[in-house]
Amino acid sequence: MSNDSKMEATEPVAIRYRIKQVLIGGLLLFLLGVAYGLFVKTTGLAIPCIFHLITGWKCPGCGVTRMCVALLQMDIRGAFYWHPMLLIQLPILGWIFFRNIIAYVKNGVCRLTRLENICVYICIALLLVFTVLRNLFP
Ligand SMILES: [Zn+2]
Repeated sequence: MSNDSKMEATEPVAIRYRIKQVLIGGLLLFLLGVAYGLFVKTTGLAIPCIFHLITGWKCPGCGVTRMCVALLQMDIRGAFYWHPMLLIQLPILGWIFFRNIIAYVKNGVCRLTRLENICVYICIALLLVFTVLRNLFP
C-alpha cells in the first residue's frame, strides 16, 4: 500500500501536477504581494496592525510590509531599517522554504528536517527577543 502511494507520488504526471500547483500558487501569491506593495507605495495606506492599535507596541510583523516595499525597490538599507531581524533571517527561511518546495514537487511530501526545525525555532525565538527589545528601546 505505501509502496503504491510512493510510486504514484513520483510519477511524472503527479510531479507535473505539483509543479503546476506550485507555480500557479506562487505566481498568485507573488502578484498579490506586488499589488499590495504597489498599493501601499502609491497611496501610503496599509492594513493597520491590530496589536499596535490596541497595545501601542510593535508586533513581530510590524514593518514587514515596509521592508518588502523597500526590497521591491532594491533598497536594502531601507529594508534593514524597517525590519532588520527578518531581513537577516530571510536567506535562511527562504532556503528552507525553497528546499521544501522542491522536495514537495519531487516526492509529494513537505517535511522539515531536524536542522531546519531548529533553524525555524531559533528564528522565531530571535524574532520574539527582537520584538521585546525594539519595544523597550525604540
Ligand atoms: Zn504589527
